[in-house]
Amino acid sequence: MLKAYVFRLYPNEKQRGMINKTIGNSRFIYNYCLNDTMAEYKETGKSKSVYDQMKLIPSLTKEYPWLKEGDSCALRNSIFNLEDAYKGFYNGKGYPKFKNKDKYNSYKTNNHVNTYKGKEYNSIKLDLENKLITLPKLKEVKIRGYRNLKHIVGIIKSATIKKEAGKYYVSVLIEEELIKPIFIPNNIIGIDLGIKDLVITSNHEKIENEIKNYNKRLKGLQKALARAKVGSKNRYKLKLKIQRLFQKIRNTRKHLIHGITNKLIKENDIIITENLDVKNMYQNHHIAKSLANTPLGELIRVLKYKCEWKNKKLIQIDRYYPSSQICSKCGYKNEKVKDLGIRKWECPECHTSHDRDYNASENILFEGIKLYMKGLIEQA
Ligand SMILES: [Zn+2]
Repeated sequence: MLKAYVFRLYPNEKQRGMINKTIGNSRFIYNYCLNDTMAEYKETGKSKSVYDQMKLIPSLTKEYPWLKEGDSCALRNSIFNLEDAYKGFYNGKGYPKFKNKDKYNSYKTNNHVNTYKGKEYNSIKLDLENKLITLPKLKEVKIRGYRNLKHIVGIIKSATIKKEAGKYYVSVLIEEELIKPIFIPNNIIGIDLGIKDLVITSNHEKIENEIKNYNKRLKGLQKALARAKVGSKNRYKLKLKIQRLFQKIRNTRKHLIHGITNKLIKENDIIITENLDVKNMYQNHHIAKSLANTPLGELIRVLKYKCEWKNKKLIQIDRYYPSSQICSKCGYKNEKVKDLGIRKWECPECHTSHDRDYNASENILFEGIKLYMKGLIEQA
């Protein structure tokens, strides 16, 4: 990730002279190459490539020795600047223009890293504690900014020195590494997602779908509305009541989803669910009606982004895995349990009695752990 840090720069008189010289040299190269490209195009109908232009620099520095006095790295960057201007032109912006002093008031220099006898040398260095920046040709320059920052962890890529209304600034581009903490899972949970109970966990918890409690009232009100006379005061009142109820349902949904996801993420490092095809469930007419009030899709969406934020893992197992039918104790597959009406059953093999949903969530947990371990092995 690249990040720019902008500091106010306080060059002394000699340094100011050098900065102004390098800006002038960069502007000269920019205008020279623009002119050269235009002339070449007129003559041959072809534009010069950046690399052809780079080749001009040595002969130009021979012809105009004062180009050598400033920071030479800035000369190459001004050719890249011109290339950007041409790219802009090809994307519909105006044709590159010759730049005067006001329009060309900065230069960019890159950090060059050399290793000598095992020690690393950078052409650009930032010393936040002493408020100094080291720049090519300028050496140490005083800076100000980021008072509370003692260190920046990262690699300096480049610095752009700018002169604006008599003041100087430097923008330092730093590649910062995103350091993710090591993932060590302690608590793992499997959750079965349902309609009556939204979440059933392998820790034997059920979280009720509170929204379904509003269903009866909503239906009653909608029936009454259908019967009420058009234009009547009663009808208006009913409409208002329905609106308020919808508002309540929306709020309940939101609180429910955030409540569940926060709890799951706080207590667990790996959360395992089924990969539900909510769209498909809607098409199944029987479940569709009850699902309309079930925020399962939204629950998974929120769970996903919160896991990413908090460095937790969400594992989704195959939706066709028969989590309800398998005995979580001995692994026997009992096809009779396919019938959704069966809430409790006894395993014919090991005689464990099962609550349909807890058993399913335990199987989801085991299947998820299997997937997680498989992933670890493949990574290794
Ligand atoms: Zn069994």
